[in-house]
Amino acid sequence: MAICPLSSDICTLVIASHNAGKVAEIAELIAPLKIKVISASKANIVEPEETGSTFAENAALKAEHAATASGLPALSDDSGLVVPAIGGAPGIYSARWAGANKDFSIAFARIQKELQNNPADAYFICVLALSIPNEQTRLFEGRIDGTLTFPPRGDKGFGYDPIFIPNGYPITFAEIDPVEKNRISHRARAFAKFLDFLKEHP
Ligand code: IMP
Repeated sequence: MAICPLSSDICTLVIASHNAGKVAEIAELIAPLKIKVISASKANIVEPEETGSTFAENAALKAEHAATASGLPALSDDSGLVVPAIGGAPGIYSARWAGANKDFSIAFARIQKELQNNPADAYFICVLALSIPNEQTRLFEGRIDGTLTFPPRGDKGFGYDPIFIPNGYPITFAEIDPVEKNRISHRARAFAKFLDFLKEHP
């Protein structure tokens, strides 16, 4: 089955996320492909627990859950910051390190403490999972490498952007023009692979 399981001009893709911002961003990215996008919450799909131990496992379980519940192709993403010097943390726990109030200064302080103020490489990773009913889940991975800096700098981004300097740039992700960030980011790279797949499997 291609991504269009319905023999209609416009096919439907469930975005397995309850984050309205993420659904809007994905809808915009795939707008030129005439794919109708609906969110998991609009399709009355409850969010599964993220019990995987890798980004790929969590992305896959979210997409497969939404595809099974809806009978439609579903796309999910899972992303985060990986710092190899501290065992890959915060990794799949990136959102949780900021606590219930999403206070990233807590996460920054914890990373800095665990690094004992040593300089460190890091990377952002994004894994997209596409689940089409009765087909094997496909994964698309994007990654951007860089280094960490403390104290945080910049106010343009979100999450860990203020402590991440992508390789080849003198400034943090939170200081870079968002258009530029969205061109080079882990998410952009994963999406580029996903869009290539869609073009090959219309
Ligand atoms: P989720 O995949 O939406 O659960 O995102 C996981 C967490 O990773 C987010 O809460 C952010 O803390 C972090 N994260 C993912 N992508 C980025 C990014 O582009 N910049 C900064 N933080 C990010």
